Amino acid sequence: MRVSKLLNPTLREVPAEAEVVSHQLMLRAGFIRKAAAGVYTYLPLGLRVLKKIEQIVREEMDAKGGQEVLMPIMQPAELWKETGRWDVYGDEMFRLQDRHEREFCLGPTHEELITDLVRGEVRSYKQLPLLLYQIQNKYRDERRPRFGLMRGREFIMKDLYSFDRDEAGLAESYDKMYDAYCRIFSRCGLTYRPVEADAGAIGGSGGTHEFMVLAESGEAAVVYCPACDYAANVEKAECRPRPVKDNAPEGEYRLVHTPGARTIEQVAEFLNVPKTRLVKSLLYDGDGKLFLVLVRGDRELNEIKLNNALGGFISLKLAEPHKVLETMGCEVGSVGPVGVPEGLKVIADPEVSLMAGIVCGANQSDHHYVDVVPGRDFRIDQEFDLRMIEVGEECPKCGTPLQEARGIEVGQVFKLGTKYSKALNATYLDENGEEKLCVMGCYGVGVSRTMAAAIEQNNDADGIIWPLQIAPYHCIIVPVNLKDAQVAGTAEKLYAELGQAGVEAVIDDRDERPGVKFKDADLVGYPLRITVGSKALANGQVELRTRKTGETELVALAEVVALVQKTVKEALEH
Ligand code: ATP
Ligand code: MG
Repeated sequence: MRVSKLLNPTLREVPAEAEVVSHQLMLRAGFIRKAAAGVYTYLPLGLRVLKKIEQIVREEMDAKGGQEVLMPIMQPAELWKETGRWDVYGDEMFRLQDRHEREFCLGPTHEELITDLVRGEVRSYKQLPLLLYQIQNKYRDERRPRFGLMRGREFIMKDLYSFDRDEAGLAESYDKMYDAYCRIFSRCGLTYRPVEADAGAIGGSGGTHEFMVLAESGEAAVVYCPACDYAANVEKAECRPRPVKDNAPEGEYRLVHTPGARTIEQVAEFLNVPKTRLVKSLLYDGDGKLFLVLVRGDRELNEIKLNNALGGFISLKLAEPHKVLETMGCEVGSVGPVGVPEGLKVIADPEVSLMAGIVCGANQSDHHYVDVVPGRDFRIDQEFDLRMIEVGEECPKCGTPLQEARGIEVGQVFKLGTKYSKALNATYLDENGEEKLCVMGCYGVGVSRTMAAAIEQNNDADGIIWPLQIAPYHCIIVPVNLKDAQVAGTAEKLYAELGQAGVEAVIDDRDERPGVKFKDADLVGYPLRITVGSKALANGQVELRTRKTGETELVALAEVVALVQKTVKEALEH
């Protein structure tokens, strides 16, 4: 490709709307342009990167026996009504009607459609396992589309669905996909980690991992063990109760006046006690049903754990102030567990019942109770692990203090079990002619998000540093001065030879100053750059520069093609 002909509009300025570096660089380097919030056009270089990631994904899916299909983006509402998800999916789903007022959605995911296909086509155990996948646009009306390709409303996903005879078969399919995902992200040249993730309250037969590309800008927080392979999304990471040593009070609990002290910090300071002596009492509203939730004052409540523990509400949120007033007779900052109404369920993290003398809200304005003893002075109806894990806590596997990292979720593997096969009646006949439900798994890779994640992990002040495996082109040739016939001729010859050697090369044949060409080459992030200049050429040499290290070396003209070819070949080997 010739840069003079390439639609590659680079920008010097950082576009104001782009917050994260991948978004900024994809706009600046001319990879994408915005069509609407969270909806983008891929320009030629952007599309090449995308196709390379897709191809890696496709090869690894095929290697595991996956068969590629292509399902429609537009999906009939009936199927979604059959599984009950038409109502559950909420505002994230793009919905539309045809001229006959039949309802459709733009597919946010394809469990319904694939299960419908399989229930129609699979009869016998002999047809299983079946691994079907596609690479296609998905549509989700995200509440906050942002960060460019990272969280789009239209984005590209690879989704594979596995159909097995039983749980053992599912475990095999799951392991295959787990392995394939490791290979995919390694082949993309990325530093990643599979982490245990939250399966949700209705997560089928359980078991799910997210694949995280580690980067500061990641939206997800993960904890990992530096000594063993334990790693988990903080949403999921199990916490062990860690009691604080404290003496139980000798007498009854007492009411104290705490004017103006509402938050944990304010109360702890006012009474001069550590936060570990306080209990956070939160009134929650799950689809209209109220619960009182207790965690120790220094801990953060994990709402995902709470929702799972309570059975999975569609909407779980802190109760509105007027509901708090109705139920507890006070404002939010004064809620506590002593003397709560009979019917109100009290749910606590196990650390609460291990506390000795507690400070908590007294359910009246500007007052708290002190020396409250769990069990003696208030009831706990159910205990669940409800808190957020903290850095430095012991690894649940080996006891080493955990560390924290930020990650971008680029993929997820998920055991669905029979959730969808049951709802849609996808069955097969086993060896004995008995009808059984297919056992399913689903496995997604965010192809376009992976492209963004690769940039988040690989960039510097000058631009993108593509891992060679997914770079739009491997190498750029920059003739320094096109008016010099020998320079221009050599550059053209190299361009032709590299092409013949299987190296993806571009030649910057624009009539621009060398500085401009170098800047653009760095911004776009070509892994290798060959500079052809008259001075080195006089010695029969050209300059070869590696974008990643910034190292340059002078290489004999006669050898440069073979050297570049070898470098590329080695990087692509897997
Ligand atoms: P998230 O928690 O980030 O919203 P998700 O759990 O809803 O993602 P999945 O349904 O598991 O996503 O989709 C599979 C993969 O698709 C994700 O791992 C992610 O890489 C990608 N993905 C999901 N939502 C988006 C989006 N809005 N834009 C780009 N990629 C996305
Ligand atoms: Mg996910």
